[in-house]
Amino acid sequence: MTIRKILTYPDPILREKVKTVISFDDSLKQLARDLVETMYDAPGAGLAANQIGVCLRVAVVDTSQSEDEKKPLVLVNPEIIEKEGCEVDEEGCLSVIDFSANVERYSKLLVRAQGLDGKIWEFPAEDFFARVIQHELDHLEGILFIDRLS
Ligand code: ZN
Repeated sequence: MTIRKILTYPDPILREKVKTVISFDDSLKQLARDLVETMYDAPGAGLAANQIGVCLRVAVVDTSQSEDEKKPLVLVNPEIIEKEGCEVDEEGCLSVIDFSANVERYSKLLVRAQGLDGKIWEFPAEDFFARVIQHELDHLEGILFIDRLS
């Protein structure tokens, strides 16, 4: 595992739309390990692959916020298939240094993603967990939370 450098605004790579993952090989597993390690080191609740300069549709999330019980979730080719509700809360980003602001997000989601083995799975997400997923999926589209400020 390697702690990678997190790119910061206005790095142009953060604006690139990433590519769908098609090969579920060892380099994907390595990328996931690096993302998890880098997220915990930051520390942050989520990290998208393009934040470390890899333009693939992969993100990691851990909203457990507990030192003893780390439960990193690796999302390959994630997409939101259902969304509802609305919630405004403060948000920050590892790629936008020293800035946070209120952002409106959906409060409930149904997410579809693939695992490192390529298997498709779906799961519900609410509140802070849903917020982090929307934030990371935005990254994968080249969108930063500062774009969503009114
Ligand atoms: Zn971010």
